[in-house]
Amino acid sequence: MKIQNVRGTYDLYGDAKRKAKKVVEIASQMVEKYGFEEIETPIFEFTEVFARNLGDTSDIVTKEMYSFEDRGGESITLRPEGTAGVVRSFISEGMQQNLPVKLYYAGPMFRYERPQKGRQRQFTQFGVELLGVQTPQADIEVIAMAYSFLKALGLEESVVLEINSLGDEESRNAYREKLVSYLKQHYDLLSIESKQRLEKNPLRILDSKEECDKIVVENAPLYADSLNEASKNFFEEVLTGLDLLKIPYRVNNRLVRGLDYYAHTVFEFTTDKLGAQGAVLAGGRYDGLIKEMGGGDVAGIGWACGVERLSMLMDTDVSLSRPVAVIEIGDEVHQTALQTAYMLRNAGYRVEHAYGGNVKKRMAKADKANAFAAVILGSQELAEKKVTLKNLDTGEQKQVLLADLIKELA
Ligand code: ATP
Ligand code: MG
Repeated sequence: MKIQNVRGTYDLYGDAKRKAKKVVEIASQMVEKYGFEEIETPIFEFTEVFARNLGDTSDIVTKEMYSFEDRGGESITLRPEGTAGVVRSFISEGMQQNLPVKLYYAGPMFRYERPQKGRQRQFTQFGVELLGVQTPQADIEVIAMAYSFLKALGLEESVVLEINSLGDEESRNAYREKLVSYLKQHYDLLSIESKQRLEKNPLRILDSKEECDKIVVENAPLYADSLNEASKNFFEEVLTGLDLLKIPYRVNNRLVRGLDYYAHTVFEFTTDKLGAQGAVLAGGRYDGLIKEMGGGDVAGIGWACGVERLSMLMDTDVSLSRPVAVIEIGDEVHQTALQTAYMLRNAGYRVEHAYGGNVKKRMAKADKANAFAAVILGSQELAEKKVTLKNLDTGEQKQVLLADLIKELA
């Protein structure tokens, strides 16, 4: 048997790993400026944390979850997304006493999808959740935070912010009614899947990737026409805030989020540079979720981004700082070399200290590691407490006292 990785999973190393790390680093630094704190929840939860009501018809719940029975007979699911776990923790840890709560997370998510470029079965998300703020101020800040983060990655020209409002419950029900009656008129044209969705989760049809559905959706009623006054005002306030901060956006009346508990603002940053996998960051307001999961009547809003998709987009240089090479000539200098490398690392340098081979081989290694300088130790010089310091870019070299090495390197 040949041992190999599971379809849709990848090993991350080298540049790709450094890029992914950088994305998470920049995101963390940005959201910490907004007062968000990191939380780490388990990678698996009881299945009902994700699949709460039997009526849940989202793709994630119906066909993408990795669920299994553990040895104790419990139904367990590898988390497909971050929000449900954070909300579960918010409730079970009693965080409701101290609102608002601002949390961020980063880690692997698991979805049984058809693997392709930018679509994996294990992928990494970075996400934020802001719990306990009902006003549009939260929506504006959370979107501003996403925009600043993408800007810090150098991607503000590569992405477009699309935004829509699903309104409050009254507006959503009004829209749903209009939508269902429209879709029923075109029932025959819908995909089999969408025919099934028509009763349970018609909004989801707006989000369908099937060509036949897209044609029907083209002329579907517009969400904006179903929003009541309160919902319209809420949305206006959000857009005014974005204008004030000069954050560009495009109102997209077709934008929805799959799950039932979304309300008011939904948004997505998309790009045309990743083929079909255009969504890099998506989020929205989920005021109904906390209550649905057994918590209080607490508002929530958040977003999550795909770390791998963002890594593929960014062309930031993620190479490490150039090291210093420590080169030994002869066995007698071995101990001093060990001490010298240790001293240089403690002084903050990256040090390449080849473990074997003759001088020529060691110099070649230094070259390959892109070292900017070599510290060459020979026994005769060392008798005078001296080493040779060589600038590997110019080839210049000179003898320096070992005690002055750090000073000379700087
Ligand atoms: P898509 O429409 O591409 O399936 P989604 O709506 O399922 O995305 P969300 O659940 O909103 O995605 O997740 C937020 C982000 O996580 C997405 O915008 C995307 O960047 C990333 N993402 C989602 N699924 C995958 C996956 N299978 N592989 C890699 N990244 C993913
Ligand atoms: Mg998906």
